[in-house]
Parts: sequence; C-alpha cells; structure tokens
Amino acid sequence: MKLKKIVDDVMKEGADYCDIRKEKWDRTSLNLKDGEIEQFTQGGEEGAMVRVLYEDGWGYVGTSDFAELKKASKRALSMAKTNNKFKKEKTGLAGTKANKDEVIIKCDQDPLDFSAEEKISLLKDIEDKVKKDFVTSTDLRYGEATVENEIITSDGAEIKMKIPRLMVYIIITGKSDTIQRAAEGAGGTGGFELTEEAYKKIDVVTERLSNLLDAGTPPSGNIPLIMDPSLAGVFAHEAFGHAAEGDLVSGGNSCLKGRIGDEVAAEGVTISDDPTVEGYGHFPYDDEGTKAKKRVLVKNGKMNDFILDRESAWKLDMEPNGGARAEDFRVKPLVRMSNTIIEPGDMKFQELVEEVDKGIYAKASSGGQVNPAQGTFQFNAQEGYLIEGGEIKEAVRDVSFNGFTLETLQNIVGIADDFESSIGHCGKGQTASVGEMAPHILISDVTVGGR
Ligand SMILES: [Zn+2]
Repeated sequence: MKLKKIVDDVMKEGADYCDIRKEKWDRTSLNLKDGEIEQFTQGGEEGAMVRVLYEDGWGYVGTSDFAELKKASKRALSMAKTNNKFKKEKTGLAGTKANKDEVIIKCDQDPLDFSAEEKISLLKDIEDKVKKDFVTSTDLRYGEATVENEIITSDGAEIKMKIPRLMVYIIITGKSDTIQRAAEGAGGTGGFELTEEAYKKIDVVTERLSNLLDAGTPPSGNIPLIMDPSLAGVFAHEAFGHAAEGDLVSGGNSCLKGRIGDEVAAEGVTISDDPTVEGYGHFPYDDEGTKAKKRVLVKNGKMNDFILDRESAWKLDMEPNGGARAEDFRVKPLVRMSNTIIEPGDMKFQELVEEVDKGIYAKASSGGQVNPAQGTFQFNAQEGYLIEGGEIKEAVRDVSFNGFTLETLQNIVGIADDFESSIGHCGKGQTASVGEMAPHILISDVTVGGR
C-alpha cells in the first residue's frame, strides 16, 4: 500500500498530523583489537515508523514488516489518543514548507564495492603503522552506514534521500608509570575515499601517546587555556550546543531559555550548527522533511537562534530549522545537532600563545560531563602542554577543566584563523553522527585541575 494513502487514511480517522519514515540501511562494523578481529558485523535492514499526533498526544509505532504498516498506523493513532487523555501540556507543530525532493549524496568510492577483506586489510595496515615500540595495545574501528529514506507527511512533504557515512577510529595505549591512551577519528559523509583521512591521523595519535608517556602533571587553579580545534569543537557541541536544543529549551532544561538577543559570549564569538556543510553531521532534509539550513546560534556574542524541530518551534513560537533527527526507524526524531561550528577569527595561533604568560595548551577531548540546565561543564583533554612566557613548553597529562559555559564563552579573548573538522557520536538516548568544526581559541580564565 502506498505510504501517502496510509497517511491520508489516518488523517480521515481524526488525526491532527501523521508522518511515515521508511528506511533501508546497509551497515558494516568492524573492530580489530591487538591484531585480532574482535567484532565484525554487516548487513541490511528495512523498516518504517508511523508517527501520529492527536490533539496533544503522540503515538509512534515502528515495524520492519511493510505489509503491517496499515496496522501500525492504526496502533499509532490509538496510542496518540491514549497519550492525549493523560497529557497535561499543550502541543502542536509549527508550519514548515511542504518540500518535495529527492537527494542522493554520492560517494567517490562506494563502500559496497569493497570486500570485507579489503576493509580488514585497511585496519591491519593502519595497525602496522601505529604499532610503535611504546604502543602496548591497539584498537581500530571501522564503521560504514548508508541509509535510503523516504519521508511522507500529512502536510504534503515527500522527501527521498540517500546518505552514506563512514568513519575510522584509532585508539592506542602505552604504559610508563601510568597507562596512557590516545585516540583520533576520521570520516564524514561519503564513501571509502574517506579512509584516506584516517592515515593522516596516524602521526597525530602516535606522537600524542609518545608525549603523554613522558608528561608531567599539570598545574591547577584559574589560568588561561588554549583549546585546539578538536577540543574547541567538542566544547561548542557539549557545553553549548546541547543547551541550544529546542526540546531542552522549551522544556525548561536549558540555561539558554529566554536568552535570545542576550549577550552570552564575548564579542566576536559566532557559533553555528550547520547540516548543509560537508561533515559527519551532514543531511539535506531532517527527519520531518524540513529543509536543512545553517542555524546561527550565537551571532557575534549574542544569542540568536536555537536548534528546532516542528514541535519545539511551536512551543517557543519560532521557525522550525531542520532540527529533527532519529537514529533509525525504531525511534522517534529528537532535536539533535549536526555539524557544530565555532567560526574562525583573525588571530594567528602563535599570537594566541604569545598572549599567555602562564597557562595550558590542551588538545583533543577524552570525555567529560555537562549539565545544560545549570550550564556547567567538566572536560578532560587527551593532551596538554604548559605555556610559559608566551611559549609552548613541556607536555602535561590528565588535564581536566570545568566551569560555567556562559562565563567561559564570555572569557574567549582570542580566536585563531585556522579551522579543523572532526567527527563525533552524540548520545541523547539515541546516537547521532555529528561533526565539530572550530579554530584554536584562547580562554582567559578557566579552572584547571589534574584528574
Ligand atoms: Zn552530544
């Protein structure tokens, strides 16, 4: 049965809104640990989700059996009616253009044209190159996923897309008086050609681990901190980006609620989230069929926009901007980031370093915690260096820092003109492929401490 007909039938039965997302996935996931294949899965699957809004209640039913879609739509409507009975809060969907489009993101080298053996050989080759004498353990990961999806909404949107994504992660461990670890990922939206990027990370991880094994402990206290592009990107995503997600804002779980137009960062700081640029978080339309667009969240220090799906836009009386993403057909779309960007400035990296009398240069993230409601963060850097008298000195390890996000954004006193892109997997109950793009940034005052 045609998807459009199922949607129309649910609407005739009294639904206020209905959409169907039909998806066909092809995935390969591979893990080579210390030269042994630890995990190797590949395969395809198909399925669809029917989503129905009845007054203030939502119903969602996913199925991998397309013959059951009609039945799934009836169950979704009945679930929406039940939820409506118990729902206290009003809801609705902000209007969006009913797009009709088909977009295929092409890759230069289709991963499906490469055999399993070629993919294992790739990891084996990278392993040979990272396995220096100080490396005690290696962990290489390869993942590729191509999704073909079709989105039909009762508002008239009809979207077809094909999006291929690929990533390689390199994690190496070494031991001196403590165990140290260095990790880097490469990839994006595209095909097997992206594996070339992984080779560029080999020297980065091996040099990092080598430096960490000889590193001392960092000073603690409130000192200036330079973040490298990779760490600045993660900071923009984790500490700021999550707080700019429309569902958190409208639900009262963000420190940015009611802050549009306010100064939330230093002058010259512009932070965007942009699904339209090439990167691991690229997509042409979101999972509600809204056309993807660049969201300028902070414009020259002032709060300018949030990331919004149709429901959070309705609640905040704003325009939806393509913020709805679902991990796959089993789950409902949530408000998610795409490629989070700190726009470059006009200083040279060397000029940032010269500004610092006594501080830290921290590179790459190794996890942390954020609280978007309170606007607090705690991060660990993979790699650190002392800065003394405007010069980078010896390596320090276990650099961790914390603070209030908005205070820290106000303390950005230098933004370099360089720019690098990295990849990440964001967890919010569901996993999303995201990109992070940023220059080096100098923060005048951050609470730094050893872990
Ligand atoms: Zn995240």
